[in-house]
Amino acid sequence: MIKITKFGGSSVANATQFEKVKNIINADSGRRFVVVSSAGKANSEDNKITDLLYLCHAHIEYHVDYHNIFEIIKKRFLDIKKDLKLNIPIEAELNEIEEKVPDMSIDELVSRGEYITSKMMANYLGFPFVDAKDVIRLNYDGSIDFPTTEQQLIRIVRTHDRFVIPGFYGTTADGSIKVMSRGGSDITGSILAKCLKADLYENWTDVSGFLMADPRIVKNPKPIKKITYAELRELSYMGASVLHEDAVFPVKEANIPINILNTNDPFAKGTIILDNIPPEENDSRITGIAGKKGFAAITLYKKHMPEAVGFFRKCLAVFEKFGISVEHLPSGIDSISMIVHEKDVKNCIYDIIAELREKAEPDDIKYISDISLIATVGRNMSRKIGTSGKLFTALGKNNINVKVMIQAFDEINILVGVSTEDFDNAIRAIYNTFVN
Ligand code: ASP
Repeated sequence: MIKITKFGGSSVANATQFEKVKNIINADSGRRFVVVSSAGKANSEDNKITDLLYLCHAHIEYHVDYHNIFEIIKKRFLDIKKDLKLNIPIEAELNEIEEKVPDMSIDELVSRGEYITSKMMANYLGFPFVDAKDVIRLNYDGSIDFPTTEQQLIRIVRTHDRFVIPGFYGTTADGSIKVMSRGGSDITGSILAKCLKADLYENWTDVSGFLMADPRIVKNPKPIKKITYAELRELSYMGASVLHEDAVFPVKEANIPINILNTNDPFAKGTIILDNIPPEENDSRITGIAGKKGFAAITLYKKHMPEAVGFFRKCLAVFEKFGISVEHLPSGIDSISMIVHEKDVKNCIYDIIAELREKAEPDDIKYISDISLIATVGRNMSRKIGTSGKLFTALGKNNINVKVMIQAFDEINILVGVSTEDFDNAIRAIYNTFVN
């Protein structure tokens, strides 16, 4: 059994967290390939090492002395070393990095968080340390060069039956260090799972998997035991964030399950993410609810719109010209709305409207802001008649006006748009009708 075991920043934030990681690794002999983030926040007053490294770089950029910030970083690492009695010359390495900070690229500098944390973890677990710079190959555009990465990984596992590797970075063909987007250690774990054909990718974090709704809105929401990649994509896009979105693609292609687990509650089963879940395994009508605020709609009206060939294209071309992504496109008979992120159009809405008037020649245009979208997601919805009936009844009974409703033919997600002031109540109403 090959398991890729990835620990996020909060799981390696201090010596106590390192001890929890060791217990988790020792509890299962399949946990041989360990991916580690950079030490994160152990509590709300803490700072993430990655943030502090970015801050060091900003100091250099503005010609401000960075040594005070670097001292905080050093202290965090040296405290862990002291508390765990590690036998590793980390101080010398930190001093060397500190000296080189002004000459390092931003990517190399911020990657040092993962590098040092992993080296300490390798020492603590008694595992070999493998540097991501010798394994993970990134293209210049940041995408992953899978063939080279796979070759390099296979070479490493010939001589190492276990190792700890830093997440978040790799190298480009010219040998320079390049980091992924924030939270990218999830992607490193996913790359390893795919290339080593793992049976399972365990992603250890500080929550016991996904919850059916945001606990800041719904009291004690139920955990999601199993979720498909497709459902996860819908919920993550709408704001439920536990896993980096790009971590899904490598393992989805290889059909490797991901288990989201909690380092602080290691016996909780967490959430399993799979490509396919047989319908009989979970009869729940919905899997989860997520929502996002900050949308706006630009609606165009035109008499006999169905006969106006090319009308939609002309409208969309205007948004393309302004570099604005249209998120949804609900339409009526003689009207069409373009739903966009309000922040994207806030500063140019008058220009967009003028251009739409000129290019599409509508009879009228209306702009509405302060819209929130709520996604009710479930793979079983397509098999269960009455789901939308239940949903809209719940909203109606709670006096919530639905401004827009969108469902694609895959019937995996019913999106409703409500006024932002109704956002929390709408989520609670949907949750209560399907779950409680
Ligand atoms: N340390 C990086 C970050 O804070 C990457 C990661 O944690 O996955 O974004």
